[in-house]
Amino acid sequence: MNTLLNADLHCHSVISDGTLTPEALAQRAKANGVELWALTDHDELGGQDRAIAAAREAGLAYLTGVEISVTFAGTTVHIVGLGMDHQHPALLSGLHATRGGREERAREMSDGLARVGITGVYEGALKYVGNPELISRSHFARYMVEIGVCKDISEVFRKYITEGKPGFVPHRWASLANAVGWITESGGEAVIAHPGRYKLTPNEEFALFTEFKAHGGRGVEVMTGAHGQADYVKYAGYCQEFGLAASRGSDFHSPEESHTDLGKLPDLPGSVTPVWALLESRIQQ
Ligand code: AMP
Ligand code: MN
Ligand code: MN
Ligand code: MN
Repeated sequence: MNTLLNADLHCHSVISDGTLTPEALAQRAKANGVELWALTDHDELGGQDRAIAAAREAGLAYLTGVEISVTFAGTTVHIVGLGMDHQHPALLSGLHATRGGREERAREMSDGLARVGITGVYEGALKYVGNPELISRSHFARYMVEIGVCKDISEVFRKYITEGKPGFVPHRWASLANAVGWITESGGEAVIAHPGRYKLTPNEEFALFTEFKAHGGRGVEVMTGAHGQADYVKYAGYCQEFGLAASRGSDFHSPEESHTDLGKLPDLPGSVTPVWALLESRIQQ
């Protein structure tokens, strides 16, 4: 298992906030040269059986996956799980609890937007939702682009639905200990997703990596669509410093919205241990 494998271990389907089905993602991954794939929907395993079947059909090696929303140091951090038993009861009930509250949060977001004159966003966003338990800010953003409030998704996030903006509603997600615990108890490995995206102070970031390790986390995304060259170098260094394996995943959501396609990231640097080396027995051929 080498660092040069074209692994893509982070993407989203219509089961969370992606726009493609698990089947379409499997075909796209195969066409783009992916050799090892994982579907990592937010807080949800409902797409795993379809992804496993579609990967087998496409002749693509597969790892089960999920991306868990965590509240850490007052902000949201994402933890990817790979290679779990996707029917494990503790994992399923933990994710079910994590999804709870999205509906109420969405109604409050819509109320906040109505107060600045943008009405009916909750109802409009529902058109884009594939899974009623997983209404996400991405669905709000798609609808607000449709009605012409903003020219693109990133403008919606910037002006309306990030911290301090009228449609933002703070929410308490899973704890770091629980998220890592559910993943490892169900036989998987936990990975810190896109660390370069978080607005943590250096002390908070150190605490995140230290506590993650202490809870049994084993990996960090070095190559992801959200990172640039400086992040690649920085987090490859963290792999050495914290004794973590490195992961690689595009975080692909949609052909129209994602600037990094499945399988199109640079290779992992040769200095790291790839996370798939820890997961060989979990790979489904
Ligand atoms: P939620 O889990 O409902 O808070 O939504 C988070 C999702 O919104 C992330 O998984 C991304 O897909 C998307 N997202 C977050 N920030 C941005 C941004 N600045 N631009 C575009 N999409 C974003
Ligand atoms: Mn997302
Ligand atoms: Mn994420
Ligand atoms: Mn993601």
